[in-house]
Order: sequence, then C-alpha cells, then structure tokens
Amino acid sequence: FATILSSLNAILSVYPQFARGFESIHSISEVLTSNQVEEYQGTRKVESFRGAFEFQNVQFSYKDTDKHVLSEFNLSVNPGECIAFVGESGAGKSTVLSMVVGFYRPNAGHILIDGVPMDELDMRLYRQKLAVVPQTTVLFSGSIRSNITFGLDNVPEERVMEVVRMANLQDVIAEMPDGLDTLIGEHGGKLSGGQRQRIAIARAMIRNPEIILLDEATSALDNISEHVVQKAMQELIRGRTTFIVAHRLSTIRDADRIVVMKNGRVAEVGTYQELMERQGEFYQLKQLQA
Ligand code: ADP
Ligand code: MG
Repeated sequence: FATILSSLNAILSVYPQFARGFESIHSISEVLTSNQVEEYQGTRKVESFRGAFEFQNVQFSYKDTDKHVLSEFNLSVNPGECIAFVGESGAGKSTVLSMVVGFYRPNAGHILIDGVPMDELDMRLYRQKLAVVPQTTVLFSGSIRSNITFGLDNVPEERVMEVVRMANLQDVIAEMPDGLDTLIGEHGGKLSGGQRQRIAIARAMIRNPEIILLDEATSALDNISEHVVQKAMQELIRGRTTFIVAHRLSTIRDADRIVVMKNGRVAEVGTYQELMERQGEFYQLKQLQA
C-alpha cells in the first residue's frame, strides 16, 4: 500500500491533472502498470458523503494467490469516526485501506458507503472526496504555496493562509525569506520531516476531503515535530471519517475506536480504555510491543 501511495503521490506531483479526484483509476493503473487494480464500473454520481462505511463479510485475495488476506471482515463505521487499525504485520490492515480507496474489490461480500454499494459509485467523484496522507511526502521543487495548492487553480490567499494555520505551518512560513512563495528546493530538501508532513496535511486540508486515509510510519518522528504534526492531523481529521493504520500509541489512544486485526478478520473492536480493561488481543499486542 505504501508503495502504491508513494507512486500515486509521485504521479500527482508530476501530472497535476490527476490531482482532481485522481482521474480515473484506469489512468492511474496504466501509469502504475499494475495488473492487480480492478476498475470499478459504477456510474452513480454522489456529490457529497457523510462517511458511513459498512464492510459486510468482505473476503479478498490478491490476484494469483490463494491466500485469503481478508475473510469475513465485518465493520460498521459511523460518519466522522476515527478508526485505528492495529495488528501484527500481514494481518491485512493496509489491504483494508486499499479497499477504501477502491484499488481492489472484494471477491465476496460488500462495502457500502452511506448505504451505497461501492461498486455502484462513480469512482472519480468518490476519490475527489478522499484524501490520503502518505507516509513520506513527495514535494516538488517550487514554492511552498504551489506544493499546498497543487492541482487547484486560483485558490484565494485567505484559504491558503487558513490551511497554513490549521496545519501549524505559520511559524515555518514566517521564518522563510519569501513566505509562502519561498522555493523549497529540489524535493523539499531544506525542510524537516515534520514540516514536510505538515505540508502534506495542508495539501489534504485545502481539498476539504470527507474521508481521510493514513498509513502511519512505523518510525517515530522526534518529539517536537511529532507534537505539531499530531495537532495538525487532529485538525485535519476532525469531523471526517478517518482510517489510520496506526503505530504510534498517541494515535491509537486518540482514535474513536481501535480495530484489532488478525489473519484478515476483526479480532476485537473498542476504545483504548475498553480494550485495555478487557485484557484480550489488544492488551496482548501491546505487551508484545512494549
Ligand atoms: P498489514 O498492513 O497488516 O501488515 P497487508 O494488508 O499489507 O498487512 O498484507 C496482508 C497480506 O497480504 C500479507 O500476507 C501480504 O504479504 C499480502 N499482500 C499485501 N500486498 C500484496 C500484493 N500486492 N500482492 C500479493 N500479496 C500481498
Ligand atoms: Mg501495512
């Protein structure tokens, strides 16, 4: 998943025309030369999503493999809810995120969004409402402004400044020689990891997405940038349905619900406190990681 996302992000940077709702998955699959991406043929044009998700007995195997990566995967997600997926490597967490993007279709079972089966949806419109915050932000040489707004035309200055504030970038920009118009250098080499991530968050925010996806890096950032990045993330996900493959304890604690995955199934669901008190799968996983 991370590979697909970083390729996708690179594509978005190179071909800004894809940035508007990623264009059709067909175009992307051509560029990715993946034989695995299944194109949804839906035509139903939904302009706005509340963000309720239903995974009903979803079963999935990657092409040319027998292994059921997901089987009897069931989950109901409320609009605006933040779900953190945890579980051992290979449990199927990233695969669930890929299915939310619509990169893969279930072999059996259904995914409903606001009650509409995903395979009925016009995917181009759907993906316009979806923001993926990648693990590693691909920035292109150009100004900070263009890295935030890229793919969008004529964004008012007030709107750019608004997302800059929400993403906690105002201090960074105040210190730059040309403010928002400062060139960030080849691949953003002059910026720290935390600053790059906040630019990625601002890039997502400015599109005003309705659904957020994040596959969290396993390696932690330094504490200071971690705190500001977290605050920016909280601002981004507020009121929006969010799916996070979570590794950081702080992310897991802040989620509305934690979904513990094991062998492609939901092993346990609950809040941090509920799962700690239950002393089941989540508790054991935590003991293992501690
Ligand atoms: P997690 O994110 O929980 O570590 P993944 O969803 O990445 O798990 O992977 C679940 C299983 O699917 C693993 O056994 C993995 O090897 C397999 N898998 C993941 N991506 C692919 C792929 N593109 N082709 C074939 N198998 C894959
Ligand atoms: Mg993963």
